[in-house]
Amino acid sequence: MLHPQNPRDWYGLGRWKTRARFQMQSHPLCAHCLEKGLVVKAVIADHIEPHRGDWNRFWLGELQSLCRKCHESGKKFAEHRGFRSDIGLDGWPTDPAHPTYGNRVK
Ligand SMILES: [Zn+2]
Repeated sequence: MLHPQNPRDWYGLGRWKTRARFQMQSHPLCAHCLEKGLVVKAVIADHIEPHRGDWNRFWLGELQSLCRKCHESGKKFAEHRGFRSDIGLDGWPTDPAHPTYGNRVK
């Protein structure tokens, strides 16, 4: 399938805008904030697993709704370290991939 070479351009496609809008409508609150017991309006449809420029993963990968703050802080951290540092209401990290739960070798 022909598509723009630069993954940044994929976010400008009508097909993506439709998908992102549907994500925000079905999940209007920030997923990471909810894990911490906070109710925050989400503004970004984010790929849970980074698509890393893979066209199929971009379209088929599962999405989550995030607020801007979580998208910028949490995701960048997770993409570099492989886990998020958020702490949940019970005092434990919300991310099952957190080293607290044992290192998962990929
Ligand atoms: Zn958030």
